[in-house]
Amino acid sequence: MTGKGLKILLVDDEPFIRDIIQEMLAADGHTAETAADGREALGKIASATDIDLVISDMEMPEVDGMELIRRLREKDETIPVIILTGNDEIKVAVEAMKAGADDYLLKDENIQDAIPMAIHRVMEKHRLAEKNRQLMADLARKNRELERLSLLDGLTDIPNRRYFDRVLAKEWMRSLESGTPLSLLMADIDCFKRFNDAYGHPEGDECLRRVAGALHGVLKKPGDFVARYGGEEFAAVLPETTAADAKVIAEAMRDGVRALNIRHTDSEVDDRVTLSIGVGAVVADAAAEPGELIAMADGALYRAKREGRNRTIAAQKD
Ligand code: GH3
Ligand code: MG
Ligand code: MG
Ligand code: MG
Repeated sequence: MTGKGLKILLVDDEPFIRDIIQEMLAADGHTAETAADGREALGKIASATDIDLVISDMEMPEVDGMELIRRLREKDETIPVIILTGNDEIKVAVEAMKAGADDYLLKDENIQDAIPMAIHRVMEKHRLAEKNRQLMADLARKNRELERLSLLDGLTDIPNRRYFDRVLAKEWMRSLESGTPLSLLMADIDCFKRFNDAYGHPEGDECLRRVAGALHGVLKKPGDFVARYGGEEFAAVLPETTAADAKVIAEAMRDGVRALNIRHTDSEVDDRVTLSIGVGAVVADAAAEPGELIAMADGALYRAKREGRNRTIAAQKD
């Protein structure tokens, strides 16, 4: 063996075997603790966190080797285990490997040479498995991060259109199941082309970021959701919210944006950046689909623009 000696737990009910193997392990530079059966071994493993490896006999009173392996693997304990077995017990060795043992050692005249090889194999296997687990965990974490990023708008950091589609579909199903109203706001910045023309595109971007923040800040209920729908348009999904309540939230959003006091002297409707908002509200029904709610809010937004901008219009029930 190269490298540092290991801390090994040696489990066997025969003191004589324990003594010989303990000596062999010590000669190879390892430290061996001993246990006389599986129960004692489990106790020692539970109380010591620094055991690198278990070498265990199979036939022992009370908790035998097989039971020891099963209990360790049940607890999702990844500690490596080598079993000790007689030549006539190869079948037992196979069963032990199936139950989660990592390797086996024959108790015969070659054991002294076999020990370092088995330890090397098992520790190497354990190291690779550990590394693999780490890589998988890293990958899962990175995937979660990518998933998160794929749902956020790069400019404003609020949810994007893709995320909006998901949330609307989910809330639509919830409304369908519960019979509760679902509202949708479509908000569009007034005369934003002129804003870009007057102050430049970077200022336009900054304006979008600040508007996004203000809209987000208005929403208080856990299920409420606002996304950048595209360009200078934002959409809010308001579960369990009637048209009347949605209109109140829409007005709070308009107030919030107006309160940002972003100068816009070229606007046709005010001296600062303002919003027009369309409100749609439904109780989802199986014959309809979310697109109809979007069309409803869009239609109302179109009317808000046509009727002079800088206002909220709720879609009329037909
Ligand atoms: P209306 O009041 O009718 O909504 O007029 P508007 O000028 O806001 O609407 P229009 O659709 O004519 O123009 C939208 C403008 O939004 C044009 C486009 O350059 C600008 N825009 C869209 N996305 C971005 C963006 O990411 N950054 C910036 N700075 N401008 C954007
Ligand atoms: Mg025994
Ligand atoms: Mg606009
Ligand atoms: Mg627009």
